[in-house]
Amino acid sequence: MAKDLFLPQEGFVVETYRRFIDEALNLGFKFITPEQAISDPPQEAPGLVITFDDGYADGLNILPVLKEYGVPATFFVSTDYVRDQMSFWWDVVYRNRRRQGHGDDKIAAELHALRHSTPLQINNHLMTAFGPSSLAVVTDDERPLTAQELQTMANDPLVVIGNHTAEHAVLPLLTRTDAAQQITRAQDYLRDVTGRTPSVISYPNGYYNADIIAAAVSAGLGIGITTQPRSNRPNLSAFGAMQLGRHAPPNANNFSAFLRGLRKALQLNNAWRAYRESRRVLPRQNDCGGGDRASA
Ligand SMILES: [Zn+2]
Repeated sequence: MAKDLFLPQEGFVVETYRRFIDEALNLGFKFITPEQAISDPPQEAPGLVITFDDGYADGLNILPVLKEYGVPATFFVSTDYVRDQMSFWWDVVYRNRRRQGHGDDKIAAELHALRHSTPLQINNHLMTAFGPSSLAVVTDDERPLTAQELQTMANDPLVVIGNHTAEHAVLPLLTRTDAAQQITRAQDYLRDVTGRTPSVISYPNGYYNADIIAAAVSAGLGIGITTQPRSNRPNLSAFGAMQLGRHAPPNANNFSAFLRGLRKALQLNNAWRAYRESRRVLPRQNDCGGGDRASA
């Protein structure tokens, strides 16, 4: 279902997500929202946040699974695609090049170059290579949500809607003004359609820098999701909360190993923190002064 160039999930079906959620719950994980991860992380269990990027319509298919297990998920939407009902640019390139007989390697190289291009450059490329009609939505499994569907999703108490810019823009390639505009345009659209202003952004393709963080914070965002494959500690600074790590979904046949690896890493991390804490609060053995002098 939901695809992203950096988080390829092709071949995932609803049943895949059901198995993932089931397995994670059995291993003791607790599914939470990004807000909970920052302000109220569970003490008793490692927290997991499920995210989907881009705003594909097939995100709707996972709602019954979320309901079945009562777990939340966050969907990041590139809003111009919803507003204009256009195919995502990478799907346009892929299906047209396949039709022209290009091999997967050649298509991958073209996509790779475009992934480091501005929305304007990408649009010019599509117009030159395939013409204006190429942007039309052609298949149901590749289309963006409609505004109505987005509203339906946002009304589900288990769904969090986040910002993925207006045009899926690789923000650091733009001027500060244009980058800020990509973020605020998506904020405004999402607020108008869903009635809520997002608090969380997923940087398209994972690219951001300090200027982008500043622009996002100015737009009212307090949580930023990258594509850096790492788990996140609690008690992050405001700046740290704007650059959370995120693991790509594992091979569907390998959920167990992936989740066990995550849990092991978190346990080791927690054990290390607990040890550091204990050293910090205990006075030194030969320390007859106040606790304020004790340090690790
Ligand atoms: Zn994306």
